[in-house]
Amino acid sequence: MATHSMRAITLVRRPVRDADQLVTFLVAERGVAVALARGSRKSGSKLAPAVQPFAESDVLLASGRGGHLVLAQAQVVESHRGIRDNLRKLAHASYWVDLVARSVEEGQPAEGVFRLLHTSLRIASVVEDLWPATAYFQLHLLRLLGFEVSSARCASCGGEIAAGPTAWSAAAGGCMCGACAASTPGSRLMSDRALDCIRHWAVTRPTAAYDESLDRQAVAEAEGLVRAFVRYHIDAEPKTLSFLLQVEGLLA
Ligand SMILES: [Zn+2]
Repeated sequence: MATHSMRAITLVRRPVRDADQLVTFLVAERGVAVALARGSRKSGSKLAPAVQPFAESDVLLASGRGGHLVLAQAQVVESHRGIRDNLRKLAHASYWVDLVARSVEEGQPAEGVFRLLHTSLRIASVVEDLWPATAYFQLHLLRLLGFEVSSARCASCGGEIAAGPTAWSAAAGGCMCGACAASTPGSRLMSDRALDCIRHWAVTRPTAAYDESLDRQAVAEAEGLVRAFVRYHIDAEPKTLSFLLQVEGLLA
């Protein structure tokens, strides 16, 4: 009945009857897992710390009646409280976990996404300007889901992207050469510096997503393009994104 203990990151939760919550976890070995956390809204509940968003814990999931999972035990390894206590960090990380909850399947291993989220949350604990981390997160989440952004070569003809006008098309798969862009409806021009950002994020480690040599305006442009790619493939206009834009607008 009870399964072995697994490392899990809490993505989202919602209250259900009594003092229970339905919690969506990300587990490396089994993707997204939704489990009932009985009594976790009661004060003093031993499960409460582990069902806080972004918490990373060792959890024991048991199968309850009707095949639903029940959170039997949980031991927090990293609470990430600093993210929940900071409005800007909370807004970025809420968008990340929302994208994961919407796009990762139940029951399928998701080691790559787990590592990406784990590292991104660690970065969020220490970094203030999180736009590069959010751009990096979206770019690599898509790659892990099978939608790689083309940035080294033209997404359409596969040719080199020479200096000069570079364009972007989510439908075509990313960056395009000027010649292909002219014949692709819906493509838009992008700056060379935004192309540099996307190329940098595509090959670097998450901890190097924030690079002081990257121009802030170019980061904003590149992040917007990557976000359009997310919208195209994950087909969602999440409330967490509106919240993020609102918070960043207020704190700007
Ligand atoms: Zn081309």
